[in-house]
Amino acid sequence: MKKILIIGNSLSAWSVASAFINKKVKITIIGNKNNTFGAQQLSPNGFEALKKLTQNDDVKNIVYEIIKFQINSYNNNETRNLKNFYFNEFDLKYFSASREMLINFLIKNVKNNIQINEINKSCVDIIHGESGKLEVLTDDNEYISADIIIGCDGVNGITRKYVCGTTSIVKKQVFRGTSNDKKQLLLKQKTLELNFSNYGHFVSYPFINNNKRYINYVFIPNRLFQNSNEILDILKSISKFASINWNDGYFYFYEDEIQTIHKNNVLLFGDAGFSFEPHLAQVGNNIIEDASYLKFLVENTNSYNEIFENFSRNTCKKKRKLKSISNIVGNSFGINTFAKLRDKLVSNFSDQLMCNFFKKVWYD
Ligand SMILES: Cc1cc2nc3c(=O)[nH]c(=O)nc-3n(C[C@H](O)[C@H](O)[C@H](O)COP(=O)(O)OP(=O)(O)OC[C@H]3O[C@@H](n4cnc5c(N)ncnc54)[C@H](O)[C@@H]3O)c2cc1C
Repeated sequence: MKKILIIGNSLSAWSVASAFINKKVKITIIGNKNNTFGAQQLSPNGFEALKKLTQNDDVKNIVYEIIKFQINSYNNNETRNLKNFYFNEFDLKYFSASREMLINFLIKNVKNNIQINEINKSCVDIIHGESGKLEVLTDDNEYISADIIIGCDGVNGITRKYVCGTTSIVKKQVFRGTSNDKKQLLLKQKTLELNFSNYGHFVSYPFINNNKRYINYVFIPNRLFQNSNEILDILKSISKFASINWNDGYFYFYEDEIQTIHKNNVLLFGDAGFSFEPHLAQVGNNIIEDASYLKFLVENTNSYNEIFENFSRNTCKKKRKLKSISNIVGNSFGINTFAKLRDKLVSNFSDQLMCNFFKKVWYD
């Protein structure tokens, strides 16, 4: 039986484990913490992929449906509505999901289907043992051997270094927060809100975590305010978002283009393989889609080398496209000089144009 070692313990790791629920393989997951803060948007492609991947219809019980996408410009404590788009008018199902519930759903589903060995440690290196087998060295000097390693250890992980050598990583500041303010919950029911401001853009939407409703907030400072010392004070002074307890953090993505995401039976998956800016809310959705595609390959191909080749070629192609769209979208969200022109353009977007754009991002 093939020994598969998954490094990492978050969305990618449990999505990848789900790809093997119908196979006779021995899986070990090694990682010491997972990323369960707040929520993420689940677009129709991600939602459908999640159902296919888990073969479990209970997915509908962990998501919250978003019907309206509202775009505003918010300056000097005044909100101006630019555009409202209703997903249901185009038969598009859009959702939010708490990260904790999403990962726990995947974990439960995997464990209901296959036996899995979990190791609560960190990996420090990948080497080739005397027998030629791959081995992973853990932080307490233990060696664990495997036939196949799947790197789900994020942008700064060791598997990326093993497969690609040194990569150039871009780091950008982001603020995140959650709130259960009753008034806001009432106002923002089923609504995904995007607010442009002079300082950057805000995204907010409700989600459910363990039967309680919250709002997830993300603020990405524009170029002028990235790493500015004043930005937290500015955030506190903006009345619409003043009550939120902002957590300061970073998101990372790769600058260089890579041609492959596998080497010597080590496959990169999720952020470890390909990451781009979060403006399309697609990085996580693509992780689920990719896992569903990997599941298809695993169940319909005999050789792992062929699986990795097909997986690498087809997923990289799509990610390159998304990366460039996300970059353009991010730049237009963060515009300072032509903000009025941007706002005018957005307010003139037709519903059909927006629907076509979403479909291109989700399905092309
Ligand atoms: C602001 C923001 C908003 C986003 N919103 C959305 C959204 O709405 N929709 C969407 O689809 N996506 C969204 N994303 C993207 C999505 O959150 C990420 O792509 C996803 O969480 C990445 O998952 P991952 O498992 O690949 O990596 P990570 O979450 O980074 O997990 C990596 C794991 O590997 C472990 N690890 C690292 N090194 C080692 C080691 N040496 N040994 C063992 N374990 C190790 C870590 O502890 C961690 O558990 C957003 C991202 C950001 C930054």
